[in-house]
Amino acid sequence: MTKSYIRFWGVRGSYSAPFETCLKTGGNTPCVEINVDGHTLICDAGSGIIPLGNKLLNNEKNKDILILLTHFHWDHISGLPFFGPAFHPKYNISFFGPGESKEIIKKYIDDQMKAPYFPVGTEEWVANISYLDPKEKNITYGPMEISYYSAYHPGITYGYKINVNNKTIVYIPDNECLSPNKPIENPEEFSDEEITILEEMTREEYRAETNTIENTDILIHDAQYTPEDYEKKKGWGHSCYTDVINMAIDANVKNLFLFSHDPNNNDEMISKIFEDSKKIIKNRGSSLKCFISTESLKVSLD
Ligand SMILES: [Zn+2]
Repeated sequence: MTKSYIRFWGVRGSYSAPFETCLKTGGNTPCVEINVDGHTLICDAGSGIIPLGNKLLNNEKNKDILILLTHFHWDHISGLPFFGPAFHPKYNISFFGPGESKEIIKKYIDDQMKAPYFPVGTEEWVANISYLDPKEKNITYGPMEISYYSAYHPGITYGYKINVNNKTIVYIPDNECLSPNKPIENPEEFSDEEITILEEMTREEYRAETNTIENTDILIHDAQYTPEDYEKKKGWGHSCYTDVINMAIDANVKNLFLFSHDPNNNDEMISKIFEDSKKIIKNRGSSLKCFISTESLKVSLD
């Protein structure tokens, strides 16, 4: 029996996609459960946290839950008003996320449930709720060691690194990853010397990004755009899947899970993205294993 696992509960970026053509991949927004020997860690609280909450209420003996929020965009918190364990007195729920203080994190979470946006406020939560100090550099949760770093995404957004069972997991659902070979935009505005400096800065930033995820066993990464989409949406804070694959190969990642699928991409489109991903990996002669994150996918950590 699998004791420790990762389970995907929501894999869509931006907004949910409860459409017939998307059901194979899944329509809920980001939520990933990491369960190690009964310790429940939840990454993000998109709509996927609702069925996860129902499962916890029905099955789990463990009543301690830590929720890591990467940021407070709606697609990452919209499941909280319907998260069953928060309305049950036997649960101890802690939150961690980006912010200046515990009070600010609490306010961000409270605000989306205030009238007129929602009829029931967080004062109705009867679980024991706590907010971890956002200035903590590292968090220990059961056997898990958790650290975080900043992503390229509007506002302050984190990626989380979790070390457990001699494995490294990186969860970074919203991030525009760099490419070292992208041409400088509007090169006519710069001198040759400035272009050389800009190119070196890009390479330096790329090295920093690949260092962060180097040798990661399991990378769960934003892969919202196709190359065609990305041309129109540069700077929006999401990645093109081809850039993510190349970055994962450069960083010697072992297993890559493409995540935060565009709600406009149906199952057929996502299958095409997967086939193209395998081609890129083969052409580069890499041993990277690539997967599409799908709702209810479970990965063993034993
Ligand atoms: Zn976002």
